[in-house]
Amino acid sequence: MSGRMTCMAIDCRWLRRTIDSGHAQSPFRTICTHIVRDGKDCVGPFLEDMETDCRLWDPNERLAARLPASVRDGWQWQ
Ligand code: SF4
Repeated sequence: MSGRMTCMAIDCRWLRRTIDSGHAQSPFRTICTHIVRDGKDCVGPFLEDMETDCRLWDPNERLAARLPASVRDGWQWQ
């Protein structure tokens, strides 16, 4: 890959954010839809300026649209 991509969990294509009313204390859920994690919670973190170290991370469409072609075209899409 050429260039440098900031890998934030919030920008991952496998992330699904939802509300689970069964968890009254913290109903906001961040679920991983990657086949390897099989619907488990995303490893995050969801803190500003902290990148995820998840090796399954892929940029979502919104992030990919903002990337320079030199970075986007060199990314290893899974
Ligand atoms: S666990 Fe990894 S692959 Fe899954 S949503 Fe979070 S960052 Fe993406």
